[in-house]
Amino acid sequence: MEVKRCARCGVFYTNSGYVCPKCTTKDNMELSQFKNFVEENGIEINSLKQISTETGISEKNLNRFLEYDGLEGYKTLFK
Ligand SMILES: [Zn+2]
Repeated sequence: MEVKRCARCGVFYTNSGYVCPKCTTKDNMELSQFKNFVEENGIEINSLKQISTETGISEKNLNRFLEYDGLEGYKTLFK
């Protein structure tokens, strides 16, 4: 079994997923918030820092989301 370290809280966990079970709900919530924000505001807002300020999601987490499956397209928006 692969042991991973949660990027949000630092605990070790063995389930599949990007973060530990405890953080999954919050992570998913922020991820959809991030997606909605980009959908609503498009690429006019092309700064993660600005998105961070407006959504309250940390830049660290936003950068992490860009590595998630299905968000490959987003990555190019923030280059
Ligand atoms: Zn965690």
